[in-house]
Amino acid sequence: MNNNYFDVIVIGGGALGLATGYELGKRNAKTLVLERFSFINQQGSSAGVSRQFRIPYPDEYMVRMVLDSVPYWDELQTHTDATLLDKVGTLWFGDPSVKTTEGNIEAAEKAMNKVGVKYTPLTAQQIEEQYHFKNLPKDYTGLFQADGASINLLATLETLLQRNQASPSVTLREYQSVLQITQKNDEFWITTHDETFVAKKIVVVPGPYINNVLTLLDFKVDVTYWEMASAYFKKTKPDIQYPTWFVFQEPTAEGLHDNLFYGFPSVVWDNPDYIRVAPDFVMKPLSNPDQRTHVPNPQELAYTIQWVQNHMTGLEPVPHFTSTCLIALSTIENKEMLLGFAPSSIPNHENIVVCATGWAGKFIPLLGRILSDLALDGKTPYDLQPFQISRTRFKSIL
Ligand SMILES: Cc1cc2nc3c(=O)[nH]c(=O)nc-3n(C[C@H](O)[C@H](O)[C@H](O)COP(=O)(O)OP(=O)(O)OC[C@H]3O[C@@H](n4cnc5c(N)ncnc54)[C@H](O)[C@@H]3O)c2cc1C
Repeated sequence: MNNNYFDVIVIGGGALGLATGYELGKRNAKTLVLERFSFINQQGSSAGVSRQFRIPYPDEYMVRMVLDSVPYWDELQTHTDATLLDKVGTLWFGDPSVKTTEGNIEAAEKAMNKVGVKYTPLTAQQIEEQYHFKNLPKDYTGLFQADGASINLLATLETLLQRNQASPSVTLREYQSVLQITQKNDEFWITTHDETFVAKKIVVVPGPYINNVLTLLDFKVDVTYWEMASAYFKKTKPDIQYPTWFVFQEPTAEGLHDNLFYGFPSVVWDNPDYIRVAPDFVMKPLSNPDQRTHVPNPQELAYTIQWVQNHMTGLEPVPHFTSTCLIALSTIENKEMLLGFAPSSIPNHENIVVCATGWAGKFIPLLGRILSDLALDGKTPYDLQPFQISRTRFKSIL
């Protein structure tokens, strides 16, 4: 059993699991990272190859957290020649009063002002002239924040995987789906289809499969699942370049809660002749991850195509290809990301560290540090209050 005994077992080897393994390895903790599929797979929330790094957030603590993540990105960058954050800037525009799941422009400006983040306010005309959009309503406003970036997610995952492989204290095991968790004498006995591993502490980061794993610990969190579509439009003008962007608008169709689209520049590592645009609203939530089809919701796609045709220039009118990515979204108001220990009603809760839901791509290396600190020290210097869920919001399944 000694070979199967670890200080910490990380359940889930996606972006957060690998970032946590990396930080645990730096502290020489005997660590096991268990991954259900292969490392770097297309089955979870880290599918695809790009994410947005952006500072505009409606809450000051989120703005600060993005800034706090920068030194961790810088450190990770020293381990690879690939550029992890391609600083093309963030453009936010639209109706400044519209409130969405991603926040709104007015609140983001206030939060950035408070923290002292520099940005350039823009009119609709300036946005059209400088950023290749067209036919924007005249009362739209916007802002450009120069530190926004396109995250090379694939290179980030590869770098983290290499750092884990290079660490003498980290063991990586793929195709090991955690099927059972039992507690004996303050230890966690983690069973996969063919082996059992033991640790005093666990970090639970299974991405959209969060409740499949939490159920093994007799609780779950309030989430909805969404298969988000992305559409790739070929550039007709090769020199045209977009920043990373979000547009905030009032819903125009019945039954539409949000009317938010976001897009990426063309980047060397992701189909360089194409631009990715995605709808950022859920039209057809799934009740569990197994309902995933890998096919974009046709209506979400149709709205996206219509928006691109009406408002973007230098692109072919229909996408050449599409992709989907699965995410679990918290349904608890103002809790985009859930982060902390299991609820106190769960035995040994202070040794169960959980992180799930939300748009955590921009925080990957920072979250690795926070999760490893929580596992090894039981605390972190970061204020996790905004991400903790009160006991009542965890559902005991007993
Ligand atoms: C379409 C889309 C767009 C996004 N855009 C942005 C963005 O622009 N900016 C941003 O900051 N964030 C963005 N995000 C969010 C970001 O990508 C995720 O927060 C991040 O990738 C989550 O990583 P993770 O490690 O938690 O989850 P995952 O990458 O899903 O990793 C979890 C891993 O756990 C494994 N696993 C599951 N169950 C088990 C089990 N029982 N046993 C063992 N292993 C298991 C899975 O196979 C998976 O590999 C986006 C997400 C999606 C889906």
